Amino acid sequence: MFLTIRHAKAESAGREVIAVAPRNTSRTCPACGHTAKENRPTQERFHCVACGHHAHADTVGATKVLRAGLVRRDANPA
Ligand SMILES: [Zn+2]
Repeated sequence: MFLTIRHAKAESAGREVIAVAPRNTSRTCPACGHTAKENRPTQERFHCVACGHHAHADTVGATKVLRAGLVRRDANPA
């Protein structure tokens, strides 16, 4: 229901909506792709145990969701 309303509002505002499964988005390093729960030492912090990349965990998660959405869009052009 929430997704349906949000989708309709976004499209009426000229936005594109792409549903993305959030699985592992907050555990996968945006720099090297390494996925591990150890990459999240705390709720707020992301610190990749493979390459050392670090950032705010929410920024990492949002970046991963955006990339996943763009990949889906490129795979299924409207
Ligand atoms: Zn990394």
